[in-house]
Amino acid sequence: MLDELQAELNQRALQGLLRKRRVLQSAQGAHVQVDGEHLLSFSSNDYLGLASHPDLVEAMKLAADQAGAGTGASHLVTGHQLMHDRLEQQLARFLKVPAALLFTTGYMANLGIITGLVGRGDAVFADKLNHASLNDAAVLSRADLHRYPHHDLAALEKMLANSAAKRKLVIADAVFSMDGDIAPVPALLALCERYDAYLMLDDAHGFGVLGAGGRGVLEHFNLYSERIIYMATLGKAAGAAGAFVAGEQVLVDYLLQTAKPYIYTTASPAPVAASALAGVRLIEQDSQRRQHLHGLIKLLHDECRLQRWRLMPSETAIQPILVGSNEDALKASECLRESGILVPAIRPPTVPKGTARLRISLSAAHTVADVRHLIAVLEKAESA
Ligand SMILES: *Cc1c(COP(=O)(O)O)cnc(C)c1O
Repeated sequence: MLDELQAELNQRALQGLLRKRRVLQSAQGAHVQVDGEHLLSFSSNDYLGLASHPDLVEAMKLAADQAGAGTGASHLVTGHQLMHDRLEQQLARFLKVPAALLFTTGYMANLGIITGLVGRGDAVFADKLNHASLNDAAVLSRADLHRYPHHDLAALEKMLANSAAKRKLVIADAVFSMDGDIAPVPALLALCERYDAYLMLDDAHGFGVLGAGGRGVLEHFNLYSERIIYMATLGKAAGAAGAFVAGEQVLVDYLLQTAKPYIYTTASPAPVAASALAGVRLIEQDSQRRQHLHGLIKLLHDECRLQRWRLMPSETAIQPILVGSNEDALKASECLRESGILVPAIRPPTVPKGTARLRISLSAAHTVADVRHLIAVLEKAESA
């Protein structure tokens, strides 16, 4: 088997698909040190620049002093600490829903929510560009999985109309992680109402970023429904780590009994929950960060003029530039790095074949000058 593994790795390398890690030697932020180089980074999901914010760091230290480092047990045994409880209450209050349930990561939340809600005899309807964790969860649930082309509501409607499943769950990224576009939530919800399905939204990239108050995609569209199962993560705009599901009390009560990635894992450390709580407070209280971020998004679209490459339409912090081939995307990323800018090349299977791209993430930690510098370097790299 090891020989086969080596051969597969060699094959990947030949196709320009080998993934490599770099060592981040500084804190996360606009300016980072990576493998000894100082770079201006457009490559994190730290959209509000909270990952190294003093409030989050202080909250973490204080919680470590009070609650210790490890939790020593799962939530349902003795690992559910005061900080977890407070964070869940704060999330429910902030989102104006009856209840929230915390998970250790977004990946686990998706596995837990979907396998906890549907099983054999049920059906899942999923956008083809959904995050890998949602696809894995659907497969693991053993429900019938129907994948519809990206945003194709007519295809989804046909699938729903033809389904005789007991429970029907439509699942979509609220903001698609490699395109930055927003799901047509009102239309999805209307279909769910028509066909008695429920709508699960993964708002990993919208929570903290979308909506005037930072409440994410539901505030963006100004809608609320008992049919919506809202999930978001705390490791992106909220600057910490973890994830949660929010909605009706009965939903949370039920998942507490059925979500295995919640039940059979050690509760995450209280200092992590404390920093997430500080992050959520800043999302609520410091709207200037969000306004600054949206100003930078507008600036990029107003001023970036590319010829061969294409800045994709996106009103979120994710700003992909379509390059095409794997080699060209890698070359582009390398060229930017030589100019001191860190932007990752995203290749298949993360994105469809032939759509390799540069994935720019803007953050409130960037300045107007940072973004203008990025634009100048991009235009130079494109013509190189
Ligand atoms: C990042 C991400 C996740 C996973 O969240 P983690 O907390 O990093 O495990 C899930 N869904 C989407 C859409 C994501 O972008």
